[in-house]
Amino acid sequence: MTALPLVFDAPRRGKPPRHLADLTREEARAAVADLGQPAFRADQLSRHFFRGTTDPAQMTDVPAAARESLTSTLLPGLLTPVRHQAADGGRTRKTLWRLHDGALVESVLMRYPDRATVCISSQAGCGMACPFCATGQGGLTRNLSAAEIIGQAVAAARAMADGDLPGGPGRLSNVVFMGMGEPLANYARVRKTLEALYTPAPHGLGLSQRSITVSTVGVVPGIRKLTEEGLSVTLAVSLHAPDDELRNTLVPVNTRWKVAEVVAAADAYAERTGRRYSVEYALIRDVNDQPERADLLGKLLARRRAHVNLIPLNPTPGSPWDASPLPAQREFVARLRAAGVPTTVRDTRGQDIDGACGQLAAADLAEGVPSVAVVPPEPVEPPVELGAEADE
Ligand code: SF4
Repeated sequence: MTALPLVFDAPRRGKPPRHLADLTREEARAAVADLGQPAFRADQLSRHFFRGTTDPAQMTDVPAAARESLTSTLLPGLLTPVRHQAADGGRTRKTLWRLHDGALVESVLMRYPDRATVCISSQAGCGMACPFCATGQGGLTRNLSAAEIIGQAVAAARAMADGDLPGGPGRLSNVVFMGMGEPLANYARVRKTLEALYTPAPHGLGLSQRSITVSTVGVVPGIRKLTEEGLSVTLAVSLHAPDDELRNTLVPVNTRWKVAEVVAAADAYAERTGRRYSVEYALIRDVNDQPERADLLGKLLARRRAHVNLIPLNPTPGSPWDASPLPAQREFVARLRAAGVPTTVRDTRGQDIDGACGQLAAADLAEGVPSVAVVPPEPVEPPVELGAEADE
């Protein structure tokens, strides 16, 4: 396993270098023209980026004399792999990435018989401070740029195309925003990422919107804004408790947006898209897994377009938070189903690596490897920003 000396460096946090994937098409064409190149070179560079081509020597449709200036100006390397970890016989691969300023984020690529999903991070750290979450304990380091978020998906698509996971070459089919961070607290860059994910080549990965899941802890203005966008991406809401009293302690942002408000915003999204939303619920032993809480949750969600995804907590060593035992899980599921709420328990692969936002860092700690969660928190921007103007 690769040593991680950089984890202990004090990260120099700041704006990443300009990248093609952060620009509009017009801006990209203008940037190419500034280098004395015809505008169509922007489309060529875009095609190379979304194919995951990083070596200028492979960009044979671009004149050799222009490759260096074009790639160094518009395709700077933003994500450096620090290490890969494999699980499930190699069908699950977690990558730790170092960003230009030393910040660290993780993504996880999971190959199933019928699909390949990558779980990506939208922030380095997280400002939502959920007490059971290792990432939340470290605070927010910074928002990722769109290119840094998109780059994780592009790397996964390339890994699938190259057959890096057992099963031969394949295609990335799904993206979930369940890595580090709260996506809707980095709205404008996540919105830009969504566009890149569903736009066909050469300007995107061409994924189906329905196969993209945006997961939020309940940032209501962000859910409303997403509703207004008219997209059909899948919405997942991390509820973790059906009542405000408990949720105020498990998900501190609940003191700002209450359970009823969060569910109403998700309902409006479901109404707009005609699609069910997913309610993520980390089952924590003796904290939120009591039968009466299952009944409360069932009452809350009955007759709503919601599906509950229960996630037995991935415990962090030394933490008082633990996963619910199996009998409690079964009882919880049975009560929800009896209330008419479609319910599933996330598979074991999910428990290992993709437990929920924040669970990636927990997995690192479980192996005794310091993760991003130990980088001292130093928020450089407000934790919640919704307007494009906040990105300037
Ligand atoms: S559980 Fe998710 S929203 Fe809460 S602190 Fe962790 S990463 Fe952030």
